[in-house]
Amino acid sequence: MINFVSVGHRARPLSVLASAFGLALLATSLLVPTAARADGCPGNPGALGTSRTLVIDPTEHTKVGTMQYSETLPLKDHEVVLTFDDGPLPPHSNQVLETLASECVKATFFIIGRMAHQFPDGVRRVRDAGHTIGTHSENHPLSFNRMPVERAMQEINDGIEHTAAALGDRSAIAPFFRIPGLLRAEGVEEYLASQGIMTWSADFPADDWRHISSAQVLHLALTRLEAKGKGILLLHDIQGRTSAMLPTLLRELKARGYKIVHVVPATPDRPKTPTEPRDWLLHPDAAPAAAVASWPAVPRFVYTQTGAMVAPGLEDTRYADDMTVFHRPRDRVFRPGRFAADTVPLPPEPLWPRSALKAVSPVNDLPAPDRSVFRAPPMPRAELKLMARHGTQHAQQSPSAKVDTAVETTGSIRVQPTTGHQQLPGSWPVTPIGLHRGPLTLR
Ligand SMILES: [Zn+2]
Repeated sequence: MINFVSVGHRARPLSVLASAFGLALLATSLLVPTAARADGCPGNPGALGTSRTLVIDPTEHTKVGTMQYSETLPLKDHEVVLTFDDGPLPPHSNQVLETLASECVKATFFIIGRMAHQFPDGVRRVRDAGHTIGTHSENHPLSFNRMPVERAMQEINDGIEHTAAALGDRSAIAPFFRIPGLLRAEGVEEYLASQGIMTWSADFPADDWRHISSAQVLHLALTRLEAKGKGILLLHDIQGRTSAMLPTLLRELKARGYKIVHVVPATPDRPKTPTEPRDWLLHPDAAPAAAVASWPAVPRFVYTQTGAMVAPGLEDTRYADDMTVFHRPRDRVFRPGRFAADTVPLPPEPLWPRSALKAVSPVNDLPAPDRSVFRAPPMPRAELKLMARHGTQHAQQSPSAKVDTAVETTGSIRVQPTTGHQQLPGSWPVTPIGLHRGPLTLR
């Protein structure tokens, strides 16, 4: 029996998708090489490398990532899975691929269908480098949590189709999906699970979609990893700040004893890595309440940043080492009228010592200039003539500049384009090249 699921204006048989992923599992097993260990990284004996390949069954554990779910990938302490979203987008995605290749590190890329359609070569480069390819919707709408499930299904399937079209081979796509903006919804998760597709959240982001420096991205990635000890790191290969800090991040991971794990889906001829249920918990011995059921606030994801960079705002410079950046209280919003008259409104948590702002004086302490400062003294006619003559004499050396100076200074002499006016005694016509001005005259 074939079940048809209405997807917008389309209808797709579920069995077709399921068989497509069956093929995907089979072909991915042929494409994914064995883990590249650091000691086997050509040209870089000190490379970070990929310590092992973790084979998982997407139908057994359907949702991973402790940012939102109780389970995460069965990693050991100091093991990290790198994930990159929203690509491909040259040149940053290519730089990320080059950095990963130089360190023989394998990662998982969550491709956007529209980007794959626009940059099909980029998707092929990801596949040819041996990374795992998941998908991330067609258009990256930040409304999966509130759109009709039929619309979400269309976004999911169109994204898979465009990514497959770029590869010329649907079987090269792993059944891994990350919801744009991590804006989860039960209906979406249930649909993905029904298709044998695993929903990937993450264990920690590095806020690389925000307008922060690459050094801050690096700092957040490392401090959040250190806090959890292991996990899935969410990054964006389309971001210049990410491609810029990635070489340092990989070197730092190596120096701190972390190991990279490459995740691939299980296939009939590639059995899943044996695990225990407790291995899928970040900290099995911790209280269950540590798991986050949902992510209440929407991060400001930017999935294409091809145009001009937006100037950073004050809020962009405020960040913390934990997830509090997503929970900005409402009372921090500046509201006119909340402050008494003649006071300077200060941010509730200034980024610099408040003493620096208190130095501002009230405006009425500054002396206002007297009107006489701007008043020009009356000028006798004789002086005016002298000035005009002085101006025209200099005009022979530098015609336009000096004549204009005289006109501006007196305010009563102007340059006439014709010769039908009285010529000043002792002056002569000034005709700079290209201007054809007449003599200076009095009105
Ligand atoms: Zn995204």
